[in-house]
Amino acid sequence: MPRLICATCGTQYPESPQPPAACPICEDERQYVASGGQRWTETAALGRDHAVVWGKEAEGLFGLRIRPAFAIGQRAFLVRHRDGNILWDCLSLIDRAIGG
Ligand SMILES: [Zn+2]
Repeated sequence: MPRLICATCGTQYPESPQPPAACPICEDERQYVASGGQRWTETAALGRDHAVVWGKEAEGLFGLRIRPAFAIGQRAFLVRHRDGNILWDCLSLIDRAIGG
């Protein structure tokens, strides 16, 4: 059973036999539902035509983006440090570039 991802905001939802009735993130007054209505995708489908791209922002700091852009264009940051790594924020896709 796939975990559906809202194609408008990029939020992933738990496995379910039925798609969610709606995306509460997009139904919030600060977001929107696309004029064509709610659309869903899943990780495998997203990974067929999108990829995670790394970019060096500074020494030890990397930006990760999905290309071509997806949903609201989220960007995550990876801070690499000898004492451990920190991933700040999240992406809708995990692929081989980031260990998926
Ligand atoms: Zn949404």
